[in-house]
Amino acid sequence: MSDPVRIAQFIGSSFVESREPGTFASLNPSDPADVVALAPRGAKEDAAKAVQAASQAFPTWRHMSGPARADALYQWASRIQDRHEELSQAIAREVGKPLGEARGEVSRCIAILRYFAGDAVRSVGEVIPALSDGPLQYSLRQPLGVVTLITPWNFPLAIPLWKAAPALAMGNTVVFKPAEQSPWCAQLLAETSIGLPDGAFNVVQGDGETVGTALIEDPGVKAVSFTGSIEVGTIIQKVSAARNVKCQTEMGGKNAAIVLKDADLPRAAGLVAAGAMRFAGQKCTATSRVIVEKAVYTEFVSVLVKAVESLPVGPASDPATAVGPVIEESAQHRLTRALENSPFEREHVSRATCPGYYVPPTVFGRVDPGSDLAQDELFGPVLAVLEAEDLDHAVEIGNATRFGLSTAVYTQDISSAMRFVDRIEAGLVRVNGDTTGVDPHAPFGGTKASSSGTREQGPVAKDFYSEWKTVQINP
Ligand code: ADP
Repeated sequence: MSDPVRIAQFIGSSFVESREPGTFASLNPSDPADVVALAPRGAKEDAAKAVQAASQAFPTWRHMSGPARADALYQWASRIQDRHEELSQAIAREVGKPLGEARGEVSRCIAILRYFAGDAVRSVGEVIPALSDGPLQYSLRQPLGVVTLITPWNFPLAIPLWKAAPALAMGNTVVFKPAEQSPWCAQLLAETSIGLPDGAFNVVQGDGETVGTALIEDPGVKAVSFTGSIEVGTIIQKVSAARNVKCQTEMGGKNAAIVLKDADLPRAAGLVAAGAMRFAGQKCTATSRVIVEKAVYTEFVSVLVKAVESLPVGPASDPATAVGPVIEESAQHRLTRALENSPFEREHVSRATCPGYYVPPTVFGRVDPGSDLAQDELFGPVLAVLEAEDLDHAVEIGNATRFGLSTAVYTQDISSAMRFVDRIEAGLVRVNGDTTGVDPHAPFGGTKASSSGTREQGPVAKDFYSEWKTVQINP
């Protein structure tokens, strides 16, 4: 086992010591005896220095031409490509993401950077006819300034990049605050950013309450993009509203898959099992409820159980693993308690006898739609099966949560699919597909309590990271 990596702050494109000497350890969830990194607890002064560095970099970065900014992002993608396997292994080791999915995440990072590099040369406005003949009137996108990005641990490279890439493409500079559980991945991301102009991308590590609070309150910060819990997202919304700065939050889901009686049941079962259990259910788009039409309830549950059983549970470093450990001991305890306290029938419990923070993939049958199990986001390998009379009843149950991130319907009937797409309250809708995963060039985000602000990713991501200027030039 190698010595823990010492994590430093990344300010002005250099690694520097934190003002706060205290550290916390990042452990390998598949083998907690493996201490991956020792990271600074972080100080308010670190945050202030990073905002200052980003503010100093802003005039240079924003006045570089669009093609030059695009080139800088393409080069960042190439540096990630050069370290693809190393970064994939780091994700698997530090956050317990099975290696196959970790490799997919790194490939996605490259695609994200390349996509948004294109946006740096496509951020065009419009010519708008003026009321009178003569003036030239047009609109153009302008960057905001320094933006703060606050992220969770479950996509430790992709989430920061799907925020940073459009932010930088539009000419903003960035201060990134990663999650306490993934400091090593954040440090590696910082290393790959070297080559951008100094101070364009900064990383401040540490405790959310200390460093995160300093970064959302700093008067130099012009916008905050956040992914994480509802509790923290709500604080960020309030602070940003009081400061009148832009804010965008993505705060999770209780995603439902709906299986109708005419569905291809084995195919649906495979996709539901994968959506619920892969990466131990720790994606905000993971399937956590499956609502099954009464006529096929028993038959579907029996194929679902087989599909869940077939998913290998094991250490994240093994490429054959589908279900790894959960992120940390407190998550393992929280999930174990929720499983023990659930009054519902266990249709299936997989074996999980590895030494890390494992929670056995568990399927509960005939779950009450109003119960905690059907309402609370558990963020673990737990699936609630519910029964519905028909499509409309299934949609009613599907909509009866505070969240609205991702959803899927399984049916062979185009009319049912279209009725579902129209009525379901969610930002991401799949027909005969899994609720997890999105193409990085398509808009991502949810309705209701899942998200706020404009959508991330795809062609609309730039809306958050720019504001319009309307210009009229008179002869
Ligand atoms: P999760 O439960 O998904 O880990 P959290 O909302 O607790 O999500 O954390 C997501 C991110 O928010 C992390 O980077 C964390 O450090 C940061 N954070 C936690 N508390 C605060 C806060 N009060 N202000 C700003 N950021 C915070």
